[in-house]
Amino acid sequence: MSLVTIEPDLVSAHTRDCRRAYGLVLDGQVNSRAEISRRLGLRSTSTSRVVAELLEHRLLIETSGASAGRGRPASVLIANTRRIGASVIYVSSRSLAGALVDLSGHLVVERRRAMPEQAGNAELAAAMAALAEELLAAMPPGMSHAGTAVSLSGLIDLRLGQWLLASRWPKMRGLDIRALIEPIAGPVAICRNLDAELRARAIRAADGFAGGTMLLHWGWGIGLAYAQDGEPYAPTGSFGEIGHWRLAALGEKPCGCGNTGCLETGAALWALLPVLRRHWPDLDENETRLTGQLAALDLLSLPEIEAAARLLARSLANACRILFPARIAVSGPFVRNAQLWARLVTLFREEGTMDGFAMPELLGVESGHLYEVHGAASPLLSHAIASLLSAKA
Ligand SMILES: [Zn+2]
Repeated sequence: MSLVTIEPDLVSAHTRDCRRAYGLVLDGQVNSRAEISRRLGLRSTSTSRVVAELLEHRLLIETSGASAGRGRPASVLIANTRRIGASVIYVSSRSLAGALVDLSGHLVVERRRAMPEQAGNAELAAAMAALAEELLAAMPPGMSHAGTAVSLSGLIDLRLGQWLLASRWPKMRGLDIRALIEPIAGPVAICRNLDAELRARAIRAADGFAGGTMLLHWGWGIGLAYAQDGEPYAPTGSFGEIGHWRLAALGEKPCGCGNTGCLETGAALWALLPVLRRHWPDLDENETRLTGQLAALDLLSLPEIEAAARLLARSLANACRILFPARIAVSGPFVRNAQLWARLVTLFREEGTMDGFAMPELLGVESGHLYEVHGAASPLLSHAIASLLSAKA
């Protein structure tokens, strides 16, 4: 799988051919000059110019393949996937994590720093700056750096590049991420973690998530992202704070956002974990480890879990009346519990839809940070390729 999307920009025909040929090799669809000519409908002289440029930029490597019989062995074109890398800094439970990602999505280097709950702006800024420096310093020889993507949860101002609020670190307020990272390992691309995850899931989906797709994360917090034809709707302000929809059934339960009766107070992991630990004291607060722990437990025997599933199904059904998605992907530690998942699907179907509309497909998807890391890196890597292969005509 490659993380590069090839844009049909306003460029010369030659540049467009270079980008398309590169995309085909990177995706493993072709590996010879003859196949490039055939797929792009090019004369062999044009293909030679295209391949020459891609070799010159070290985006491709040409090696001699095994001979198929008599005569000179045909050369094989392979993508130099370590030609460009992008750094991604993201939040993983109560840690800041970093990864250097190459063009094929391979994580060349990974780093992690645990941050205590009482960490404020100074501590988080220092850790983030150190991660950005370490990832840049770890680049293998010959790799160019496309920039640093910072994928965040909580409230973010994408226009100003500021991290406003994060439930894991309540003392942090208004951290100016762009000003911090730009001088160290810019350019900086800041995104919401769910938008990044949704982008990467769309890149990997067979149909590219044609039409509308909602991604619901049901974990420590509850959040929603939405994409149209695989492109996340990422407004500069906030979006998808379904976890803070206020519900009469939840009464006056206080929420970290300053309100009461939010969906999260009855259905998020932060609210349910104390209840779950009364029955299973060893449960971890790390979503990845918890996913395995929850899989085999009889969660539905607890009335709080049944209530959470009901509230979530109703909220999801209401969100569908705003966004009308064709499919809903649900990620997070609860999804791996087969009984609870089946119950959520049933409750959601019972909610129904409006006359004349089909029920969206509900997909339980595997959690993990790889999608988020890939989706955050993809725009920077794609932009770097487009800049390298820009019009000379
Ligand atoms: Zn709230």
